[in-house]
Amino acid sequence: MVSEKLISAFKTKIEAANTISIIPHLNPDGDAMGSALGLMHALKNLGKKPSVIVPTAFPKFLSWLNGVDEIVVFEENEDQAKSTITESDLLIYLDFNAYKRVGETMEGFIANLQLPSIMIDHHPYPDEIADVMISVTAASSTCELACNVLKLSGWSQYIDSNAAECFYTGIMTDTGSLNYNSSNPDTYRTVADLIEIGIDKDKVHQLLFQSNSFNRMRLLGYVLSEKVTLIPECKVAYLWLTKEELEKYNFQPGDTEGFVNYPLSIEGINASAFFMEKDEQIKCSFRSQGDFPVNKFSELFFNGGGHRNAAGGRSDFDMEGSLKRFLSEFPKFYQDFIKA
Ligand code: 5GP
Ligand code: MN
Repeated sequence: MVSEKLISAFKTKIEAANTISIIPHLNPDGDAMGSALGLMHALKNLGKKPSVIVPTAFPKFLSWLNGVDEIVVFEENEDQAKSTITESDLLIYLDFNAYKRVGETMEGFIANLQLPSIMIDHHPYPDEIADVMISVTAASSTCELACNVLKLSGWSQYIDSNAAECFYTGIMTDTGSLNYNSSNPDTYRTVADLIEIGIDKDKVHQLLFQSNSFNRMRLLGYVLSEKVTLIPECKVAYLWLTKEELEKYNFQPGDTEGFVNYPLSIEGINASAFFMEKDEQIKCSFRSQGDFPVNKFSELFFNGGGHRNAAGGRSDFDMEGSLKRFLSEFPKFYQDFIKA
């Protein structure tokens, strides 16, 4: 999965450092949070002084992860975040591969730093953002990859049950509990190793997937019954939520996580798009099955990217303009894909 040369470069950088800043992408998801905190626990066990700096707030459904109370949120505590980062011997970027994925304010700050850096990530088309670039698109998640990098480094013993629980979390959230993105047997070996370390797997699933607020369930019910439109000739569905609709259901960050996946379970639907109003912009999420590349679509029309089957982006148009753009561009993109 990772060459000996890269592992050796990774070890050299870690061994030379004492204070280490671990940085995942903005709006961190389970994989970003799990890999950051998992690595933090392992590096502490190795005798290092790691700090986790997240660009923007993390969703409530991940607030039980061990170590979250130590996290510094850049957007909320810029001075502290900047001094922690500047005083580090090493930066580790997790679950992203382009500076813009940490958001505008933080991007300008980290892109100009002259500190040793490592990237561990599983998204395609990486920019050269670090001295040591560990990029494996075949990995289910950055959590799986980070776990393997530690193992290949001969540091398995530093993955304690806290680290294992964090890594397990990211593998589960990035694969929909081993539903998609999980055809590689290595993923299951990693999962088996993590369970062997002694995590309470049932507890993790309970906390991740069975701790919905009633409001979130009602919002899901509303969006599925009232806000999904199918375009059968393009095998796509789209759904959308305005700020007013979100407020009506007392929206909390993370509440719409996973909504975009539901239309994929409709017969004949192979792709799904979700648009929601967020901070003066429209946040977009795209999902697909098989070869259909939603990352390309998002990159071309919605300032985004991601994986072939799971991508995100944003639009500076209002909701009406964004949906219009989607409705005019998707059919052409779909036809070009069919013809190719
Ligand atoms: P989500 O729809 O859950 O926000 O994102 C799905 C996937 O696309 C995730 O793997 C995420 O890291 C990636 N992603 C989300 N937004 C962007 C974006 O604006 N640019 C790029 N390159 N990737 C994104
Ligand atoms: Mn990921």
